[in-house]
Amino acid sequence: MSLIVQKYGGSSVADATSIKRVARRIVDTKKAGHQVVVVVSAMGDSTDELMDLAQQVSPLPPARELDMLLTAGERISMALLAMAISDLGAVSRSYTGSQAGLITDSAHGAARIIDVTPGRITDALDKGAIPIVAGFQGVAQDTKDITTLGRGGSDTTAVALAAALNADACEIYTDVDGVFTTDPRVVSRASKVDYITYEEMLELAAVGAKVLHLRCVEYARRFGVPIHVRSSFSQAEGTWVLSPEGVQAAVAEGKIMEQPIISGVAADLKDAKVTVVGVPDRPGEAAGIFRALADAQINVDMIVQNISSTATGRTDVTFTCPQDSVHKAMAALNDAQGSIDFESLIVDDQVAKISLVGAGMRSHPGVSADFFTSLADAGVNVEMIATSEIRISIVTRAESAQTAVQAIHTAFGLDADGEAVVYAGTGR
Ligand code: ASP
Ligand code: MG
Repeated sequence: MSLIVQKYGGSSVADATSIKRVARRIVDTKKAGHQVVVVVSAMGDSTDELMDLAQQVSPLPPARELDMLLTAGERISMALLAMAISDLGAVSRSYTGSQAGLITDSAHGAARIIDVTPGRITDALDKGAIPIVAGFQGVAQDTKDITTLGRGGSDTTAVALAAALNADACEIYTDVDGVFTTDPRVVSRASKVDYITYEEMLELAAVGAKVLHLRCVEYARRFGVPIHVRSSFSQAEGTWVLSPEGVQAAVAEGKIMEQPIISGVAADLKDAKVTVVGVPDRPGEAAGIFRALADAQINVDMIVQNISSTATGRTDVTFTCPQDSVHKAMAALNDAQGSIDFESLIVDDQVAKISLVGAGMRSHPGVSADFFTSLADAGVNVEMIATSEIRISIVTRAESAQTAVQAIHTAFGLDADGEAVVYAGTGR
């Protein structure tokens, strides 16, 4: 008998019919002889709707109250799901994050899990019941206030519970058949990936592929939790997210031919490009700029410094950061003017970051050449470049994003024969 944690996302429990369908699936898993622990997200887009409601009441709601409000969404879905399971003749009990022992720090809206004490969950399992846990929430160890883990955080709840319960697998149910080589909502011939390493998944999650929450993958890697991303709308085998050894074992067992060189292409339209114009070309200037940004808690991603003109002895420094922190970034730099020197700031939010990810890049020469050739052939202009060991990213115009992704996807032979199925969800 194995223990499986199943997480159902908002689109899988969007309405009464879906909740009943998911209940059936859970009961079937149990009937097949497994122990099941379920984690649910809020129904459909209800978290966004609660956010909108909060905005109408208060432009800047206190973080504690916003968390209290948002966690209500998962309370609704967990209770409804437990009811639907009871109707099928199985015993089920719902638990809030706090009741399930998800202990966090007190950073409202982005709390980190610091401990998991799932005593009530193991008790329920021992009694033969199916525990349903509200995703995305916990309780702060010091303040005892209710917290949320950040948008999409139910994935992290599921992996954290799987680790604490020493589960055999953590199944993440979504509205597509698994992890795709690119967003199937954008490129219809995206192909499903069978196996991917934690590391590649982390790179993809970091560059805007929306399948899994970044922290969930970090957590899974740290504790070695095997993740199976799959659709709640079909019985198809999804994508396994594993350690490199796990992927090698799959190759050895003949489940896959070989680990592919490239695992995916992603576009991120949520960054802005900021150019600090006329920075004196001397030691300490870049340090001053990035210290000011760090002090303002800005997450800087790519950085480029131009060649300085000998006439002025000044240069430009360009960086990217999330669009929603651009105002804070500009304020921080303007405030620091005096201790740091520059002439002006230029902000451009009409940019896209396009990334190619694959662990095989390490050992296969020519990946960069093919990447840039495909962009050139598609007429896509490259404005910035950054690389990691297993990723190449560029910044280009936002309007070129789709052309760029499609061109790279085709150039690396990732196009599927048929069209990918998106079963539900608004992608909101
Ligand atoms: N309901 C929350 C959200 O929409 C958490 C989740 O779905 O994982 O962000
Ligand atoms: Mg959601």
